[in-house]
Amino acid sequence: MALHETFSLGVDPELGLQAEVAALNAQFEDATAQEILRAAIRHQFAGDIAMVSSFGADSAVLLHMVSQIDPSTPVLFGDTVKLFPATLLYRDDLIEKLGLSDVRTFKPSKEDLADRDPAGMLWMSDTDACCHIRKVVPLERILSGFDAWISGRKRFQSASRANLEYFEVDEGRVKVNPLADWSAAEILDYAKTHDLPTHPLVAQGYPSIGCMPCTDKVAPGEDPRSGRWRGQDKTECGIHWPTHGKEVDGSGI
Ligand code: SF4
Repeated sequence: MALHETFSLGVDPELGLQAEVAALNAQFEDATAQEILRAAIRHQFAGDIAMVSSFGADSAVLLHMVSQIDPSTPVLFGDTVKLFPATLLYRDDLIEKLGLSDVRTFKPSKEDLADRDPAGMLWMSDTDACCHIRKVVPLERILSGFDAWISGRKRFQSASRANLEYFEVDEGRVKVNPLADWSAAEILDYAKTHDLPTHPLVAQGYPSIGCMPCTDKVAPGEDPRSGRWRGQDKTECGIHWPTHGKEVDGSGI
């Protein structure tokens, strides 16, 4: 029975997507990141897929791969209005260098900011609420036009990502993780091989880069993500709390 027929019978659509994702994971078990991306962008979700990127410390690798397959693939960039100016400059630099022709910057709504964070200081008292109105809600809004999205998360980044698969279901959409099994060394090698520019803040001691108020420098030997929300239990912004909140992990986009 085709998936669309399953939906029409009133079966939970998420189960239909789960079956589709399981089949994709089996089909692409031994595929390369580029093969997975090519299949997702050109065939499986053609016209209905976007990449979500923070233009952060190691974003260039996946952006480069996407640009090689189709530089007109929509790339969604969340500007929380709390980012480092260097990130915006890096975004513009990469757009030009990679020839990306459809980068869409999304921001928190003026209404949400006026209502919940009029002074712009919500991050001081409630980082979850701040991330919600500045990242999660705007991303949900812009993703409503897509069936699938591409994320740069990797298994090595945290224990909660250790079992990350190439394809997963997230809130009724398919999320594609082509770099799931890549190591930190492979990321560096790829960037070097293709002469990709690095985020300028990496050299200043920021191996993981988010909003200015919530990103600290990291000392040699520390967990690379330890500078994010330093001193808090919080380890992620919420955009990868999936599927009914089972997994909690960081912003690998
Ligand atoms: S990372 Fe900090 S400033 Fe940025 S949205 Fe989250 S709480 Fe707000």
